[in-house]
Amino acid sequence: MIEDKNQNKTDLAALGEFGLIDHLTKNFTIKQTSTIKGIGDDAAVLEFNKGQIVVTTDMLVEGVHFDLSYMPLKHLGYKAIVVNLSDVYAMNAQATQVTVSIAVSNRFPLEALEELYAGIETAASLYNIDVVGGDTTSSTTGLIISVTAIGTVDSENAVYRSGAKPNDLLVVSGDLGAAYMGLQVLEREKEVFKVNPNNQPDLDGYTYIIERQLKPEARKDIIELLKDLEVKPTSMIDISDGLSSEIMHLCKHSNIGCDLYEDKIPLDPQVISTCEEFNIDSTTVALNGGEDYELLFTVSQEDFPNIKANPNFTVIGFMKDEASGMHLITRAETSIPLKAQGWNALNN
Ligand code: ADP
Ligand code: MG
Repeated sequence: MIEDKNQNKTDLAALGEFGLIDHLTKNFTIKQTSTIKGIGDDAAVLEFNKGQIVVTTDMLVEGVHFDLSYMPLKHLGYKAIVVNLSDVYAMNAQATQVTVSIAVSNRFPLEALEELYAGIETAASLYNIDVVGGDTTSSTTGLIISVTAIGTVDSENAVYRSGAKPNDLLVVSGDLGAAYMGLQVLEREKEVFKVNPNNQPDLDGYTYIIERQLKPEARKDIIELLKDLEVKPTSMIDISDGLSSEIMHLCKHSNIGCDLYEDKIPLDPQVISTCEEFNIDSTTVALNGGEDYELLFTVSQEDFPNIKANPNFTVIGFMKDEASGMHLITRAETSIPLKAQGWNALNN
């Protein structure tokens, strides 16, 4: 997985910018009726008949957000799409289109960009979205990918960070901390590989956490499930920077406080065992690890019967008034203030 798989190397200059764009985008098909014109003109044309439009952008920079020594380009393309869709779903919206802009140095052959676009196409098919445009330019060294995602939501269904009320329940989808522990394993194997390139990494027993790092999913299914259950969250956010900092965003935007229960935080057994192996506290990992792309939301108490038996959801706390502050209630039943030690892109 660490070795360079690009045996064939076609110089990007051989195609020229327009040839490259045509080559990379020729397989994209239009799936959404709201896409009137996709790639190929000066601008895409979209037509939405009702509701509101949500727009979100994320940029991924080589050396800051990803390391190509263990991130296959196909996975990177997939992840670049998924992290943006996650923000659309966090508004309780449906994702419909994306644009993809890349800055790439001549270090990358055509075959590398084909891999990247294969991942983008896989994500676009799976999430049923159209790639309707982008931009292609050169960079001096690394690779930069910027994705803009567009979605739609009926005006009464949009969910903001600001709607939570005291006594609402705090709920999270899936489990937390796996992507961070997957990264720890990949970083460790990279160091081993540097010392002895013949030493092939043994990643058995880490498959779930590595997949969570390299191939995260956006929780489109949770948005559909909430709709089926007729539960509209009072507030929602996706977990990109770590549970702690996302809880603080919900509290601050909603002007409330909250108690988070340590013993309720959902952890996969592989996260627990890998934390033991690395001698890291699993709660710290769940609170601050990030890149989980799970949905964190609040619901009013009357919605509890609709979500309580569902294995996709875990109630991890409840909201209080602003004066109560934001606390973690530990297993030892002590109350400690929540801190946002989340991974901060600007400090990296
Ligand atoms: P312009 O010069 O008018 O900006 P471009 O030649 O950059 O047009 O782009 C031509 C078409 O290809 C446009 O529809 C644009 O959105 C699309 N496009 C350019 N780069 C990419 C890319 N990396 N991925 C997807 N679509 C792209
Ligand atoms: Mg352009």
